Amino acid sequence: MNILLYNTLTKRKDRFVPIDPKRVTLYVCGPTVWNRAHIGNARPPVIFDVLNRLLRSVYGESHVLYARNITDVEDKINKAAAEQNVAISVITNTFEAHYLDDMRALGVNPPDFAPHATAHMADIVAMIEQLVKNGAAYAANSHVLFNVPGYADYGQLSGRNREDMIAGARVDIAPYKRDPADFVLWKPSTPDQPGWDSPWGRGRPGWHIECSAMIKAVLGDTIDIHAGGQDLIFPHHENEIAQSTCANHAPLARYWLHNGFLSMDREKMSKSTGNIKLISDILAGGVSGEVMRLALLSAHYRQPLDWTDSLIEQSRKTLDRWYGLLRGQPVEATAPAPAFMAALADDLNTPQAMAALAQLANARDLGALKASAAVLGLLQADAEAWFTAGASTDIDAMIAARNTAKAARDFATADRIRTELKAQGVVLEDGAAGTTWRRG
Ligand code: AMP
Ligand code: ZN
Repeated sequence: MNILLYNTLTKRKDRFVPIDPKRVTLYVCGPTVWNRAHIGNARPPVIFDVLNRLLRSVYGESHVLYARNITDVEDKINKAAAEQNVAISVITNTFEAHYLDDMRALGVNPPDFAPHATAHMADIVAMIEQLVKNGAAYAANSHVLFNVPGYADYGQLSGRNREDMIAGARVDIAPYKRDPADFVLWKPSTPDQPGWDSPWGRGRPGWHIECSAMIKAVLGDTIDIHAGGQDLIFPHHENEIAQSTCANHAPLARYWLHNGFLSMDREKMSKSTGNIKLISDILAGGVSGEVMRLALLSAHYRQPLDWTDSLIEQSRKTLDRWYGLLRGQPVEATAPAPAFMAALADDLNTPQAMAALAQLANARDLGALKASAAVLGLLQADAEAWFTAGASTDIDAMIAARNTAKAARDFATADRIRTELKAQGVVLEDGAAGTTWRRG
């Protein structure tokens, strides 16, 4: 089967040809674990989970290696720890656990490798040493910087010219930089900041070099596919390419995939503007992870997607309809339908793939429906439970969220949850033994 993927590097749909079809490699930049993920943050892991499933179904389960890192060394983490007056590990452990809970709720399969920057410090230092040795980087003032003018292909991925790059990287003009576009590979730590010993003194790595070193350590010098959100094209991925290419004398990745943004009210969902919906809050509002997942897959991954109540409602109705067909009879998954696979193989055209699922549903080809939906990570729950246990699990989760809100004296949230349940026909009764519910 021919898979076509839009490659940011070549700016066209390329036919996917792995270096070794028995060892297909995929890397997706994972979360910086310092706060809770919003539904926009879920778009890359959900989309590239579908890519992972597609590759496995085409090349074989054991022939695909998927790595998604955990960024547990980054200044945002240090800031959060200082603000909350807790150890850094408390922040990273807490938010990694939350992230994995969110991924589980969204039906995202765990990657084969989840490398942590803290566990790869020797690899990171070794790569920086290699870059210094090659003349691609230089040490100055306890920092190590990448020498951008020395790498002729810099800007190849993002297509940016020098002025754009300097503006886009928001590089502060530090006196120790030889060129304003040079970026940090290593920086010194004060005693209260996390730090590791290195040839340049006690310090910590920059974010970009963490990914380059982890990719080399877990997947190798050149991988097949590197993916992430569009905002990572510059500077993060541009810098990863510069570092890895100069250290390894080999290209970093052959195919670069980038997803578009999730928006709300047509504005990018982003912490800095505050228009965010946390995955955990959406779950507490009674929307299941599978409904969210279908909603995220309803648009093509390179297109923007606006997160609205009607999108959620539509997604819920679609799943109700499909689970309704699977209910009350044993359905054995057969094989994914050719039209469905052709849609996915065309640059992950999930809207068209879902149209193919709708056709299978209409034709009552339930075995193919179930097998096809599995590649999207949908319709794998027990159909009966979808309508019964699933619903009460959601109600229990909402009651638990309301109790947490009440304990925190957040009565506005507690009341909102009660009202939402009431709208779904569920009446809460607070008694001495806790909260019970009945259909009202
Ligand atoms: P951030 O927390 O902004 O650093 O983002 C973490 C990850 O989520 C990155 O891979 C981003 O590309 C991705 N991301 C952030 N916001 C959005 C959004 N609104 N839509 C899609 N992806 C996003
Ligand atoms: Zn990365």
